[in-house]
Amino acid sequence: MTQFISTRGQGGLKNFTDVLLTGLAPDGGLYVPQHFPQLDLKGMTGLSYADIAYRVTAPFIGDEIDPQTYQAILKDVYGKFTHSAVAPLVQVGPNAWVMELFHGPTIAFKDYALQLLGRLFDHVLEKQGKRVTIVGATSGDTGSAAIEACRSCRHIDIFILHPKGRTSDVQRRQMTSVIAPNVHNIALEGTFDDCQDMVKAMFNDQAFREKMNLSAVNSINWARIMAQIVYYVTSALALGAETGRAPSFSVPTGNFGNIYAAYCARRMGVPMSRLIIGSNRNDILTRFFDTGAMDAKGVEPSLSPSMDIQISSNFERYLFELADRDAGRIQQWMTQFKAAGRFDVSAEQIAQARHEFSAHRCSDEQTLLMMAECYRETGYLVDPHTAVGLYAGWQAMGTDTSSPLIALACAHPAKFPDAVQKATGIHPPLPAHLADLYERPEKFDILPNHLKTVQDFVQSRVKSS
Ligand SMILES: *Cc1c(COP(=O)(O)O)cnc(C)c1O
Repeated sequence: MTQFISTRGQGGLKNFTDVLLTGLAPDGGLYVPQHFPQLDLKGMTGLSYADIAYRVTAPFIGDEIDPQTYQAILKDVYGKFTHSAVAPLVQVGPNAWVMELFHGPTIAFKDYALQLLGRLFDHVLEKQGKRVTIVGATSGDTGSAAIEACRSCRHIDIFILHPKGRTSDVQRRQMTSVIAPNVHNIALEGTFDDCQDMVKAMFNDQAFREKMNLSAVNSINWARIMAQIVYYVTSALALGAETGRAPSFSVPTGNFGNIYAAYCARRMGVPMSRLIIGSNRNDILTRFFDTGAMDAKGVEPSLSPSMDIQISSNFERYLFELADRDAGRIQQWMTQFKAAGRFDVSAEQIAQARHEFSAHRCSDEQTLLMMAECYRETGYLVDPHTAVGLYAGWQAMGTDTSSPLIALACAHPAKFPDAVQKATGIHPPLPAHLADLYERPEKFDILPNHLKTVQDFVQSRVKSS
């Protein structure tokens, strides 16, 4: 069974359950597997998504969850997705495909990991006889995916803060139309930063944190990465990985979570050609690959808002590999980064990184052009995040069509209708299961940006504490 270590070197070996429930390691590091288990692809082509998910993820879970129970959870989770292939491929060019990751309840790729995470949390909490209170801040996407993941969980209360009046209608309604006794939407009178600060302040209040058993399902949780490895395996298999065909993947990236999962799949033995990072104008990763320096600057809004980040939290996991798993080096880089907003890797390290990834930046203008071109050439509508990935893919591959290119479609076009309409003139309709979203009743509480008020609200609403 695979065990886990922190990228900052403290705390020894952990098993899957610890890593699932704690998310961030107590030393501030991120959990990574002690070794990458090796996948035997033989006989896997044509298996169902849930069966492949079992083969890919079971080595990380070992006997922490009963195998039959785990298989049943996987079947149930992915059986609820709206496409029987779960993550289907659509051809958009000679040897180029889009992998649609929007067949979950919130029509964005975070469902693929969070739907499983909610079930795993509930299963483990049931066994341990515990409850947790999940609190999180959202500017849009993550909140609805987390709410959908927890709405049926018996051992979780979830509180999601969004900045009042500052999310899109679709995004707000996807959260506030979930009416369940354990789901609590808070419209905070403030900005997204105020929401994030509020969540941090609740976690920093140790007495409150312990009393409420606060927890998070943020993007650094290993279980989320683990669940994302699966669709790299299913798509590579679909295009012939079992016989050695090695696709390239192009991934629009913010926190480096999704592309890190691709890296894990490669380390587990899935044949891959290039791993291509697409960033928008918030291009800390692309600048790293250009210069060898990690150098923070402010966040600017873009047409692909789910990638509007200042730092890429999951990148630490890859830096750990780049540093030959030297946790002391990671500590040193992170200390420098915290103090000066910058650190540099060695010439050998950046050469290695460029060997393993290519990175390309895509402006808002190029994003719109890419959406328009894709629609003109194929009749296929893509959302702005997908367009960033497609653009990066074409940039990296040029005229080389010798190996398949798979670009990840991380959101349904109807999730970002204004950008799609601007680029193509088409207003993309919501899929059937969300078609009545605008008629559904909403439920949320408006609270002032005041810690004690929010804490009292949380305490009064949790089922038992
Ligand atoms: C979260 C998100 C991303 C970025 O994913 P990371 O794992 O942070 O790299 C890209 N596109 C969409 C639509 C998202 O919701």
